[in-house]
Amino acid sequence: MISSAFEYHRPVDLASAVGLLVQHGGDARVIAGGHSLIPMMKLRMADVPHLVDLQALTDLKEITISTSGVTIGAMVTQADLIAHDGLAKAAPILREAALQIADPQVRNVGTVGGNVANGDPGNDMPGLMQCLCATFRLVGPGGARDVAARDFYHSVYVTERKDDEILTTISFATPTGGYAYEKQKRKIGDYATAAAAVLLTRSGGKVATASIAMTNLSDRPIWSQGAAAALLGSECGKDAVAAAVAAMLGDIDPQQDNRGPIEFKRHVAGVILARAIARAWSRA
Ligand SMILES: Cc1cc2nc3c(=O)[nH]c(=O)nc-3n(C[C@H](O)[C@H](O)[C@H](O)COP(=O)(O)OP(=O)(O)OC[C@H]3O[C@@H](n4cnc5c(N)ncnc54)[C@H](O)[C@@H]3O)c2cc1C
Repeated sequence: MISSAFEYHRPVDLASAVGLLVQHGGDARVIAGGHSLIPMMKLRMADVPHLVDLQALTDLKEITISTSGVTIGAMVTQADLIAHDGLAKAAPILREAALQIADPQVRNVGTVGGNVANGDPGNDMPGLMQCLCATFRLVGPGGARDVAARDFYHSVYVTERKDDEILTTISFATPTGGYAYEKQKRKIGDYATAAAAVLLTRSGGKVATASIAMTNLSDRPIWSQGAAAALLGSECGKDAVAAAVAAMLGDIDPQQDNRGPIEFKRHVAGVILARAIARAWSRA
């Protein structure tokens, strides 16, 4: 199908981009890589009279790594993220997760900012950013504000971002310890049936800290405090992993769709989380 008619804007700075969002109100939407928005427009699930393209905002294409942590510009593509060796060293879970998103064609264009701002529970980066305890910077007519990834998602396509705000950067403290991003999908290029992001640190042979987030198992990403708590102080043995899986299953709320019935998804979620914990622990 062909989308309904729209006017195309290509601002060269952030202030002009925000100005266009203010000027056109609910009729305007930003476009980053377009790999979620354009399909929605072509299917007539989104009608956007004013498209505000962020491609000319080169400031949003930077990756900064410092002693205090990592900052990724919203317009960094998944491919940029995978190719950045400094980032892979500082936060290897990002490369591991990004390599499981879609296919190279989509990753060459799709941006990290678009992936997290979209609000689709099938996107992989939101759960990952919750696991990393990331902060999203939003810039609107009133200036900038920071929102925790763990507070950003309300329900399908409903987020904390206001219509006239642009996500500019994603920041997080450099993670330490072991990590794993595990994803089950029907085929290459597919969204997750279930995915798990796990970060663990080890001290004296026991789990010292843990963070666990699940993807595509609810109307938003699920950061499971209960699952992490079940591992703390344990040697990450069978019982602790089973307790973590049980806690996670209490937090998710998958729905039946073409990826399977609810019971199947809950089973896959448990298998995926147990695998991710085992891999993260082996690297911790
Ligand atoms: C075949 C296919 C398979 C895919 N598989 C996966 C997958 O397995 N996992 C996965 O995570 N994703 C998958 N995707 C989605 C892909 O990763 C998208 O690129 C991503 O979801 C959106 O990024 P984008 O840059 O294309 O954003 P766009 O499509 O341009 O934008 C998406 C939404 O976010 C908003 N937005 C974008 N940038 C900003 C910003 N800076 N500030 C405020 N709002 C913004 C837009 O207004 C729009 O509402 C797939 C896509 C395709 C086509």
